[in-house]
This record gives sequence, structure tokens and C-alpha cells, in this order.
Amino acid sequence: MVAEPLRGGLQAAGGTPPPVDAEEPARPDVVAQPQPDGSASPRPALLGRPPWTLMYHSVDSGPQDPYLLTVSPQRFAAQLAWLHRNGLRGVSMRELVRAYEQRTTDGLVGLTFDDGYADFPRRVLPALRAHGFTATLYVVAGRMGGHNVWDADAPRKPLVTIEQVRQLADAGVEIGSHGLSHRRMTGLGEEELATEARRSREVLESVVQRPVTGFCYPYGAVDAAAERAVAAAGYDYGAGIRHQSTTSRWALPRCYVGERDGGLRLRAKRLRHALRGWSA
Ligand SMILES: [Zn+2]
Repeated sequence: MVAEPLRGGLQAAGGTPPPVDAEEPARPDVVAQPQPDGSASPRPALLGRPPWTLMYHSVDSGPQDPYLLTVSPQRFAAQLAWLHRNGLRGVSMRELVRAYEQRTTDGLVGLTFDDGYADFPRRVLPALRAHGFTATLYVVAGRMGGHNVWDADAPRKPLVTIEQVRQLADAGVEIGSHGLSHRRMTGLGEEELATEARRSREVLESVVQRPVTGFCYPYGAVDAAAERAVAAAGYDYGAGIRHQSTTSRWALPRCYVGERDGGLRLRAKRLRHALRGWSA
């Protein structure tokens, strides 16, 4: 059952790159950076096109994958090797956003992993290390040590435990928040939004004993109210999925990567990102 926009979007994302609209007006290179809460920005502006950022979920072997969220270890290793061969170094979103502020993202690609699956320490970390890459793991703060119960029709997969989250942070992996309970943020009231954003941050910071500065919207579902809540909770950036009409540090776009993505398809996706810029 594909009941959610993201799931449908993920499957659609496997197609060929859309045609680029030559009529689209050039976007300004400098994008204004208003804060969602209306306050003056204490952070440097994000200038130019958002850097290429890959979105993964699980890296494991297994036959059942109705939402196309799992990449086999063999394919994942090949994808990292492809990035390396093409002069790209995989980095955490935290490092990428810092480089984005300083306009030094050349040669970098963001590597992000949603939901906090327990295969990360076993499958992902060793593969990253083989290339000297880092990454961000977005953890559902209220589900550590549990399962992906929010995906009703998907196979149950274990999630990282509190101890594993701590160890991963110590190993240099950026731990970001994926909310408290993997609720869709759009449509929530202000109080619920604040709880998902603020409480999840507090929980994770108590585990990793360092600032948690990144938030990733469950299902990629983000609107102005959700952005405001994430900004107000003190995060430095928000990770979304879709390209928007303006670059917002609270909803940075990411590119879905799946099992079908070999070198040719990765090259097409990279090209599509470069051509698309800010367009939807
Ligand atoms: Zn998720």
C-alpha cells in the first residue's frame, strides 16, 4: 500500500530526470534568509544552489522492501565508490551546511540516513570509513531501541539503541533529530510541533552529550509552521526532500537514492540536481 505522498514520490523519483524548463527565469544568486519566526538571522546566509545531498534509510539485505527504502550492502558500497571516483567526499549535513555558508561545497556531497535503523553501525559505518566519509543519522528520539512502527505495511526493522546512538556520535557521526515519534509535522498544532521539535532535541542531546543541530522532517512533510517550530527549537538547519522556490535552511532539499541507482542513474540524478537548482 502506498498511502503517503513521500512513498509515492520515492517511487516516482526512480524515473528519468525531468526536462529542464529553459524558460524558467534565472534565480538570484543571493537568497534572502528571513527567519521563520521573523527575527533577524543570527546565522550566515545560504548562498547559491543547495549542495547535492543524498537521502538513504536502511542498508541491509532482505527481499521485502515495499517502500523502496533499503539498499543492499553491495549496492551501497558501489554507490560510495562511485562518489569517490567522481571526486566527491561524503560528509554529514552539519559539515555540509557549514561549507554551504562559506561557499566551499565543491567536492562535497551530503550523506543522510533517516529513521535510525540498527543496520547503520553494522552496514553503513564501515563502508563510510573505507572512503573516509562521514554522514548524518536522523534518529526518532522516542523510538530508540524500538522498531519502525510508523510504517504499517513495511517489514519491522530494529532501530538503534540509546547506547548505539551515543557510540555513533562518539565515532563522529552527526546525530540529528527525526522528531519524537515520526509524526507528520504538517497539520500539527503549535504545541505538538514544539514537542516534536524541542523535546526530541532535548532527549538526543542528553544521550550524545553535545549539541544536536539538525532536524529532518518525517515523510519530508514541511510547511511554514513546521519550519518555525524547528527554528524556534534552536536547530541550525532542517532537512526536507523537495526543492522549493527559495532556499530555506529549514527545509534543505535532498535526493532519494535506492537499490536501482547504479553509476548511470547517479550521474543523471547529480545532473538533474545541478540543472534544477531551486526549481520545484
Ligand atoms: Zn522517516
